[in-house]
Amino acid sequence: MDRVHISIVVPCLNEVEGLGELHRRLSTVCAAVKESHEILLIDDGSTDGTWEHMLQLCAADKAVRAVRMSRNFGHQLALSAGLTLARGDRVLIIDADLQDPPELLPEMLALIDAGADVVYGQRTAREGETWLKRSTARWFYRLLNQLSEHRIPADTGDFRLITRRVLDILNQMPERHRYIRGMIAWIGLQQVPITYQRKERFAGNTKYPFGKMTKFAFDAITSFSVKPLKLSIWLGLLTSIIAVLMLGMTIVAWFLDLAVVGWSSLFAAITFFSSIQLFIIGILGEYLGRVAEQLRGRPLYVIEQVVSGSTDLEAKSSRNALRTESGGDN
Ligand code: UDP
Ligand code: MG
Repeated sequence: MDRVHISIVVPCLNEVEGLGELHRRLSTVCAAVKESHEILLIDDGSTDGTWEHMLQLCAADKAVRAVRMSRNFGHQLALSAGLTLARGDRVLIIDADLQDPPELLPEMLALIDAGADVVYGQRTAREGETWLKRSTARWFYRLLNQLSEHRIPADTGDFRLITRRVLDILNQMPERHRYIRGMIAWIGLQQVPITYQRKERFAGNTKYPFGKMTKFAFDAITSFSVKPLKLSIWLGLLTSIIAVLMLGMTIVAWFLDLAVVGWSSLFAAITFFSSIQLFIIGILGEYLGRVAEQLRGRPLYVIEQVVSGSTDLEAKSSRNALRTESGGDN
């Protein structure tokens, strides 16, 4: 395996419009840094010609390696596939949409040279994102930190530069529902922030619609906290207090000969208690489902093809996929 100084890993889902500009900006900053580098572009089951464009970039620039997933596995697994293939001593994780500026790389490298193991981007502002996205993100990061036993820095994405030793540890972590920014925070060592303003997407639309975002949030919470499982104890206590009060009311009503009037309050109480029970069963289900999926022990993802220059490393990649997957799953 040829080592390079810097690997840049970019998961891409239908990013054909921005790919040329991404490559241009990444290459410019790497040229300025004057170190050997590779750019790993991961096609996570795109349908808009992203793969074909990646092949063109490969043919034009030997620093580019294109990796094709066998289908859409989602951002975190596409990124994980890229991370197991990265050969760099330092690895930059960045989205394809240029919301996070690659031009910060020299500064990030300097912080690593000064002794950091992880330099994570922390956004001070988010431009061009909907009010819903900004406020849900803000509340989500606060909630996660309340729940988690480990401190996960707020307002960070996956944009970060990590050292080889962090990468090796991350690649050994077997979980299927991956919340990579949290997993990196869990590793510890020297982690320092670098602040920046998050820009609008260069092109295209967000690939995180509400459904995917919710699933991602549940992955984060269930991976880093078991507190929701204990919620039933507190809710149970609260509702038993309410139940005692209601019992008091019933007795009073009985003495005042108003007993039959209680139909609506009885109905309300039943609805209230059963909805709490369903809510708690739902939380149990979220955890149990993830335990079941983890126990199945399937490979985390399947890589269809790896291309470098104009060489198709496909024959290797199917074995490679098994190797990386079992590497990520033991
Ligand atoms: N992405 C991916 N697979 C997915 C969804 C997203 O590889 O199933 C990539 C996407 O192309 C982008 C990155 O993950 O490079 C982050 O997605 P996006 O910018 O749409 O998320 P947002 O910034 O809106 O949260
Ligand atoms: Mg984005």
